[in-house]
Amino acid sequence: MGRRVSAKIKRSAKAVAIVGILGVIAMIAARPFVTLVEDPAPLDPLPPAYADYESEHVTASEPTAADSDIDDRLKRPVERVVTAGSGDTIKDLMLRAGVDSGDAALALDSLGTIYDPRTLRAGQKITVTFARPPEGFGQGDFLTVSLNADPMREVAARRTTGRGFEAVEAKRQVTREVAHFSGTIKASLFESAQNAGVPPQVIVTMIHALSYDVDFQRDIQSGDSFDVMFEGYYDAKGKLVRNGNLLYAAVNLSGKPIAMYRYENSQGVVEYFNDKGESVKKALLRTPVDGARITSGFGMRTHPILGYTKMHKGVDFGVPTGTPIMAAGDGTVEMAGFNGSYGNYVRIRHGNGYATAYAHMSRIAQGIRTGRHVAQGQVIGFVGATGRATGPHLHYEVLIGMTQINPMSVKVPTGTKLAGRELDRFRVAKARLDTLLAKIPPSGTRLAENLVKTGPLTN
Ligand SMILES: [Zn+2]
Repeated sequence: MGRRVSAKIKRSAKAVAIVGILGVIAMIAARPFVTLVEDPAPLDPLPPAYADYESEHVTASEPTAADSDIDDRLKRPVERVVTAGSGDTIKDLMLRAGVDSGDAALALDSLGTIYDPRTLRAGQKITVTFARPPEGFGQGDFLTVSLNADPMREVAARRTTGRGFEAVEAKRQVTREVAHFSGTIKASLFESAQNAGVPPQVIVTMIHALSYDVDFQRDIQSGDSFDVMFEGYYDAKGKLVRNGNLLYAAVNLSGKPIAMYRYENSQGVVEYFNDKGESVKKALLRTPVDGARITSGFGMRTHPILGYTKMHKGVDFGVPTGTPIMAAGDGTVEMAGFNGSYGNYVRIRHGNGYATAYAHMSRIAQGIRTGRHVAQGQVIGFVGATGRATGPHLHYEVLIGMTQINPMSVKVPTGTKLAGRELDRFRVAKARLDTLLAKIPPSGTRLAENLVKTGPLTN
């Protein structure tokens, strides 16, 4: 008996080992940039100015095969990089790099035709080049000034054969790629997605879009999972230069899946929709604070974060003092002020008989007064512990008339439902995203746009 059991254990250990090895192979095969990004296409075709600039730049600075190292160094332009301090203008930086003020003014006139010099920020770098003097000492003529206007665009003023300057612009070779990540939620969605490598900006968009459906305090349980797909713009070295759009986000909460797809309608309006083409927007937010700030949806807590019971006629969100509180829906402020054990308190009337109330605020936001109209998502106050509160939290109530009801039981009107041609368009967009989801392994893999476009739906 004992022997048979141990043989069984050995067999299953072997199976585990094989699965493990296969897993590692799968992971290696799924590594980004190994096979997927063989031919990254630039976002825009190279403008001619860029090609000229590059080739001339290269000829000017690179030795011919016959040149010795020393000759090469003598021919290469002298390059100076200067970093802007606060309040610096480009002219200040150019003068600091050694450009005379007449040349600087001429170069700036020309640069100004393609770049607004007032957009220069502290910390930005400008590069100035000078020709080598024939003697090999000091510096020769000022040749170019260049800087990154934004992550995607480099601008420069370059001396022409005469005494003038011309503006040249270089679009960086940037590839739009789609990344797919999934994982298990541990302490919080924000933390787990961030640990998986999802950029914070993408997570915040995801949390905002989920806040209509998800109570980030109570709905997230240990072992729940997330799945997210988004765009990013990468340079030739694989460095992220700009975040793109969140394309798809889903969570699986105790077996209940919630998924949303980005869709731009024929009018150019972007919203997130479920698989049936219903907008995720609802009349009321289920999480009326920044869900990214709720760091412990479950497990040990220093103070109880209550849900709705007979004794406790609201739900509490445990977030740090000062966290912005948002109006759960559009409405009119019915009361804003100190209200006994509720502390600083705001109540909003939404129509259909519904109202929402927010208590224990450290302070009420400016301009939130009785009779004022507020929009969904507008900040109405900040989390605190005023009134009878054991620690900082938002006490949130939903009322019908003046009676508190369980927010979970509220059947709030939903947002837009797509129909007709718009629904057909959505289905095409959704199918394309579904294809991508199936195609890109959810292990943080990225797929370049040109490969994305070869999906069966676009051919
Ligand atoms: Zn409470």
